[in-house]
Amino acid sequence: KITNHLPTAELQALDAAHHMHPFTSDGALAKKGVRVITSGQGVWLTDSEGSRIIDGMAGLWCVNVGYGRGELADAAARQMRELSYYNTFFMTTHVPAIALAAKLAELAPGDLNHVFFASSGSEANDTNIRLVRRYWDIKGQPERRVIIARKNGYHGSTMGGGSLGGMPYIHAAGGKIDGIEHIGQPHWWAEGGEMTPEDFGLLRARELEEKILEVGADKVAAFIGEPIQGAGGVIVPPSTYWPEIQRICDKYGILLIVDEVITGFGRTGNWFACETFGIKPHIITIAKGLSSGYQPIGGSIVCDEVAHVIGNADDDFNHGYTYSGHPVASAVALENLRIIEEDGIIDHVRNVAHPYLAEKWHKLGEHPMVGQTSLVGLMGSIQLTPNKATRAKFAAKPGTIGFRTREHCFRNNLIMRHVYDRMIISPPLVITTEEIDVLIDRATRSLDAAYAEVRA
Ligand code: PLP
Repeated sequence: KITNHLPTAELQALDAAHHMHPFTSDGALAKKGVRVITSGQGVWLTDSEGSRIIDGMAGLWCVNVGYGRGELADAAARQMRELSYYNTFFMTTHVPAIALAAKLAELAPGDLNHVFFASSGSEANDTNIRLVRRYWDIKGQPERRVIIARKNGYHGSTMGGGSLGGMPYIHAAGGKIDGIEHIGQPHWWAEGGEMTPEDFGLLRARELEEKILEVGADKVAAFIGEPIQGAGGVIVPPSTYWPEIQRICDKYGILLIVDEVITGFGRTGNWFACETFGIKPHIITIAKGLSSGYQPIGGSIVCDEVAHVIGNADDDFNHGYTYSGHPVASAVALENLRIIEEDGIIDHVRNVAHPYLAEKWHKLGEHPMVGQTSLVGLMGSIQLTPNKATRAKFAAKPGTIGFRTREHCFRNNLIMRHVYDRMIISPPLVITTEEIDVLIDRATRSLDAAYAEVRA
């Protein structure tokens, strides 16, 4: 029997023999070094060797309330006993899905009052492609099919989500669906040259207008973007960017989809980053922090106008998943939202992020290898560079230095992720000031070790 009690090497060998890992290109490395995680509590993970690791990434940006919350296990067990499964297709529903949809309508800003459930962020973005095209079909403008997204954006890895995303390596893994266009990303440090961040933000936002005019305004259905590009490297846009995107979407009557899969549920110090950045979307994509990763659940929160047009059409909206609104996942998500609310976790994010983490995080900018630090709430990035003054990139293959730094973090029992030459964090939102000290100390030691290698 395969349990936690097997020696690590045996678990690693079985893993290598049978388990295909997502987004793991270097099979040899996975076979050699894969770490077996056995338990979690708060912001801490334990591996099969007994090491205690501080999780600077909340799993995959999702474990907002931290690991090991018994209330969530109880909610799952209760719901499994009462109604383990039923669907929400056709003419049935159940209380967990009703209660969660109503709660999300209460929490979401503006007139975002309707929820279409999925099991993941990718599925939710696939839903969004259908929702916006269906909306324009019913409105009598079926030629509006194009969705404009951004290079280096990430919206999941199904064919739909992967196509919306602007990662060429994902498009290379099996192609890309038609009708998706990409514009540049608002990544001032890497691409802004001599411009001020504000001017660069406007320049990049105005690419949306250029693209709309190129495609034809009557052919564009929607624009989709993450408030802060997450998997692209935690790229916080200049302050001018989102207001200009909003203005352009409004001007051309284009639907605005904001992908809050990472930024939702407290990450930026508000329930949604739309509030942090003052964005007024028609649809918000959610997943991850919705259940703090305790159950796979995602969805689209849809505004009154779009939901009413689709819902009141003569024909059905022929789209849905067996697990849309799964009762156990919904019950766990609802309990997770209760915890975020009653434990005051969003206030906690604001209190620990500024000034406590912010001061320490931005101080890392004094490190000789760090060119820029960004932080919004508990979502941060560090740009690695061989020359801060010229904003130079490392000459070696992009990502080499980030990869090395990540490996040092790993050895120092800190999970930080790298995206090319950027290091990123997104810890559980319950992280304490003492735990922030541990995170910063381990990150500093890891940066020092990687820097020593670069100089050697
Ligand atoms: N959208 C964003 C912004 C994401 O960061 C992710 C995952 O990282 C997704 C969508 C896809 O979510 P999932 O992995 O749950 O399909």
